[in-house]
Amino acid sequence: MLASRHSRSIILILVIFVLAWLPMTKAQDKGSNKVSVDKSEDAKVAEEPEDSSKSSDGKSQSSVNSIHNLMEELRLANKQRKWSETIYTEEGWKMHGTSVKGRPLIYFTCGDRNENTTLMLSAVHGDEITPVYFGFRLVSWLKGEPDLCRDYRVVVAPLVNPDGYLRKKESRVNENGVDLNRNFPTRDFDELATKLWKTKFKSDPRRNPGTQGGSEPETQFQEWLINEFHPKKILTVHSPLNFFDYDGPEEDELRQFTKEYVESCKLLRAAVKKQASDYNFLNYGFFPGSLGNYAGKERGIPTMTLELPTVDASKAKTYFERLKKGTRELVVYKVKDPTTYSKSGSSPK
Ligand SMILES: [Zn+2]
Repeated sequence: MLASRHSRSIILILVIFVLAWLPMTKAQDKGSNKVSVDKSEDAKVAEEPEDSSKSSDGKSQSSVNSIHNLMEELRLANKQRKWSETIYTEEGWKMHGTSVKGRPLIYFTCGDRNENTTLMLSAVHGDEITPVYFGFRLVSWLKGEPDLCRDYRVVVAPLVNPDGYLRKKESRVNENGVDLNRNFPTRDFDELATKLWKTKFKSDPRRNPGTQGGSEPETQFQEWLINEFHPKKILTVHSPLNFFDYDGPEEDELRQFTKEYVESCKLLRAAVKKQASDYNFLNYGFFPGSLGNYAGKERGIPTMTLELPTVDASKAKTYFERLKKGTRELVVYKVKDPTTYSKSGSSPK
């Protein structure tokens, strides 16, 4: 009896001891394994907050990115411009991706007939003020032209470089310091872009092509617009050089584009010229990574670069009014179908 009670207490003590000891060994086990699993465990711990911050970033980004916020920012910037705020209405915009700083990259489409699409881009360089007005005013003008939109499709991206434009001091380049008209992934980019920038442009930070063609979200946005809408002609609006430049399929590239197509594109240039007689039409040439090179030369899409005469905001309205006819001419002009290529040529896509 006594012995059994004694042995029972021994068992009880043993049980208590084992119970107390078990978690200790578990902890020790963990400790002893620590060396081998430490890295992955730490990595997991490190990953988790990063993941959750990503998702919360995503949320905060989407609010930052909202078109409403962008328009608010634009209205605020408008205080010094004194342009009519009606150009910053919030209806009708679509967005595709965001800028480096997370602002929405917006565009507007008028019409859905896709056989004769015109793409218009403005404010690729953020310190060129007058094109910003031109792009937004163009959209408000198109909204009042239902006939035009019934017969033709026009796609307008009025603010390709929102970060450059909405900086305290506007900048030509984007938030990463890259010139968005030198960053297209043209065939000569790898070989020439950096080389030319360093030699001819003496590493001018305003003309930095970036380290890789198509590296910037705002460049990708322009590429996407071209690939998505297959424009038959492109107008890109800059300032203040006061001319029209044209890049398109050339005679010496007849291996790729038919003669009829090349001529038809040149006639487009002539038709716009007739309606925009204030401007000099010249051949400015193109650069590695430029839109004229990417769209005009390589893809054979007639690409017109309009350089408004100044960056003076007070003149923006006049510039637009003067170019209405030329713009309409560009929209309605029917470029010959480029789909019939000569045997050795490849499709420009
Ligand atoms: Zn420019």
